[in-house]
Amino acid sequence: MRIVDRIQVYSFEFQRNILMHHRFAYAMRVSCLFTRIVTVPFVALLPACGTVRTSGVKNTSKTFSTVVVDAGHGGYDSGAFRRYGPEKMVTLDVAQRLERKLRESKIKTVMTRDSDVFIPLNDRVTMENKENNAVFVSIHFNDSPKRRTPGIETYYHSAASVELADRIQQKLIAIPNSADGGVHTANFRVLRLANCPAVLVECGYLSNRSEGNQARDSEYRELLADRIAEAIVEERYGAGAYRPPPEIAAQLKSQTEPASSGTNVAPSGSL
Ligand SMILES: [Zn+2]
Repeated sequence: MRIVDRIQVYSFEFQRNILMHHRFAYAMRVSCLFTRIVTVPFVALLPACGTVRTSGVKNTSKTFSTVVVDAGHGGYDSGAFRRYGPEKMVTLDVAQRLERKLRESKIKTVMTRDSDVFIPLNDRVTMENKENNAVFVSIHFNDSPKRRTPGIETYYHSAASVELADRIQQKLIAIPNSADGGVHTANFRVLRLANCPAVLVECGYLSNRSEGNQARDSEYRELLADRIAEAIVEERYGAGAYRPPPEIAAQLKSQTEPASSGTNVAPSGSL
């Protein structure tokens, strides 16, 4: 209902971009799977489902000095609005925590929004492309009509973004009991038009009871931000460059203790 109201006010293009990563992400994955099954003999010709941009993007993933942190949605655009939402509030909270951690790691940051305001997608693109030596990380939470669907997912568009997307995903799914929704290509505008490595993280499904409950937990949001920060810092400076706060390190260690020999103090440092 809310969506129908909005369509009367805002352009189709805007709606398409806002909604695509939520309502159609599942459909895109099914479509991707179907394509692969049907075209098994030609699978070599389809290394990824979607278009991977290979030119016009400066690969700054090993040199960047700035991270543009994008909190999804805002203002009248609430994003996913489940009982665990609205999405715009949890994206802002994780983005602010991430931004603080990056600054503490001596990395310059730019926030596309730092309060509950609406920022058009084109303005977000302008902000990400204004920086000379940056990477772009957008924070979202997912939604699905299928309440049982769980999973953290990371999206990218350009080839220069693949490594950062993979690293963030690996760090996030190292969180105990997290579900791996995979790394995927997507045509989201903030990724498609980026001149630098750009990724969009779906930090779990608000429509899923377990992940929705986690999203409401500030300690869990702190953990999400910490894992993303570690991935970004290690992408720039190498494995082991990030020092998580003691409480996060203890949390990760205690939750993985039974399966570990106890000698590895960085259980998530697998990359
Ligand atoms: Zn979103």
